[in-house]
Amino acid sequence: MILDREAKSRLFRTVAERLIAHTEELTALDQAIGDGDHGINMKRGCEAVLADLDAIVAKPLPEALKAAGTTLVMKVGGASGPLYGTLFLALGKALADEVTLATATTAFGQAIEAVKARGKSMPGQKTMLDVLVPALDVQLADGADAVTRLRDAAGRAAVATVPMRAVRGRASFLGERSIGHMDPGARSSQLIIEAIVDALEDRT
Ligand code: ADP
Ligand code: MG
Repeated sequence: MILDREAKSRLFRTVAERLIAHTEELTALDQAIGDGDHGINMKRGCEAVLADLDAIVAKPLPEALKAAGTTLVMKVGGASGPLYGTLFLALGKALADEVTLATATTAFGQAIEAVKARGKSMPGQKTMLDVLVPALDVQLADGADAVTRLRDAAGRAAVATVPMRAVRGRASFLGERSIGHMDPGARSSQLIIEAIVDALEDRT
């Protein structure tokens, strides 16, 4: 399928508005094991995407994703800005304007590899990758209820970061004391995946 301008607009808007709506929750999670700025970082980046939305969605999907990624790198800041920026930039590089489940899955896999390289990180370290990688695994296991399974898997994966000990990012400074809290970046990744699914299902 090719996403028309309206579909692209719904997609980017749903993701940005969803993250902005959870600013306080993401802040609270980052207050527990970080420096409390994840909510405000994501909000700043998403507001910049929304401010530029018309220009972004006028572009073909690959360029729109790259433009959003560049905005996130510039505006989000912290550790998460370059990482989410990398994710969207890599998606833009990997995708063509016409998207199929197969090309989306391949592109998502490549984007995750780019995040791993940028963050020198891998799953199990209590980061956004602990939601992104399980989500990719579900998507690969294609099937009729793939969308529901994707949503469920992202939710379970975010919860599964609670007992993990952080080995990357600011939370790793806490060592054992990072255990018992959900990773803020895992939660924002869950919100992004849910929002994408909602926008594509037109359940917004
Ligand atoms: P900062 O930690 O600089 O304050 P944020 O609070 O915006 O930045 O983002 C923190 C989130 O970034 C963490 O919860 C984690 O999910 C993610 N993160 C941090 N470092 C890494 C890394 N090296 N690889 C993957 N994700 C990371
Ligand atoms: Mg922080």
